[in-house]
Amino acid sequence: MEVTHTFAATRDLYEGRIGLLPTMGYFHEGHLSLMDLLRRECDTMVVSNFVNPTQFDQSADLDSYPRDIDRDSALAEEHGVDIHFVPEVPEIYPPGSSTEVTVGKVALGMEGKHRPSHFVGVATVVAKLFAGLRPDIAVFGKKDAQQIAVLKGMVTDLRFPVEIVSGPLVREPDGLALSSRNVRLGAEERERALAISRGLFQAAMQIDAGERDGDRLEATVSRSISRLDADYVELVAAETMEPIAALDRPAVLAVAAYVGEVRLIDNLSIEWVDGTPAPDRGLILEEPSRLSAK
Ligand code: AMP
Repeated sequence: MEVTHTFAATRDLYEGRIGLLPTMGYFHEGHLSLMDLLRRECDTMVVSNFVNPTQFDQSADLDSYPRDIDRDSALAEEHGVDIHFVPEVPEIYPPGSSTEVTVGKVALGMEGKHRPSHFVGVATVVAKLFAGLRPDIAVFGKKDAQQIAVLKGMVTDLRFPVEIVSGPLVREPDGLALSSRNVRLGAEERERALAISRGLFQAAMQIDAGERDGDRLEATVSRSISRLDADYVELVAAETMEPIAALDRPAVLAVAAYVGEVRLIDNLSIEWVDGTPAPDRGLILEEPSRLSAK
């Protein structure tokens, strides 16, 4: 595996079909499962590692974001990554840089509403990675459902010649969605955080039992997380990310909540199989994560 710091040095190493996994690093099993998925789809696998300052709207969150490049490089190598691309800020934002990607309707609600500059930051950095690295295929995790919708829209609208593939949401055996931020949760906070996935799984059971009313599904999750400081609980259409009143098409039941200082997001993606909604609880690890806990 090679570690690179510039777009040009990265492209010099290319052979065949190029796959890209964009990340902010501090890898956990969610990132590793996306690497394993991408390994099967490309000849040269590039994993980028860049804590993108423009997608953070709170500098405290940016400052406390966990980082460890050597640990990440070792994990990437174990999972068949060919190039670990670790740019410095000026490679991504050349001095004086002022061009941004404006995002559309799909970015208005949920994360876009609560973190107003977030998706402009995400779309801009991913556009730069696509332009500089020119991948044939790029993978993203379903943990960030709205991000996938925003980026699919960007690729269609701006005609990027890249295939976007999504991978499963990876969870701890007890349901907690893996996140690089989980290492910041204390033991008591981690216990309280379980209310999020528990609420989503209760809603999944209601859906399996025939519930289709959006308010009632949202209320189930809201009740479960009543001891957390919720930003939103929303049932939205999978394609547009706009709120829907009833479960009558592919949808996402999405949550964001603070547990102490740590903001967590999670969702239940609800696919449509033979005319019936099929909640996707994600990929549940058999053993507790070695990488996203203290
Ligand atoms: P991040 O490093 O948090 O920006 O995430 C990089 C990629 O990993 C994104 O496409 C995320 O959606 C994905 N990801 C993060 N957490 C998970 C998870 N628990 N399961 C699956 N994918 C994830």
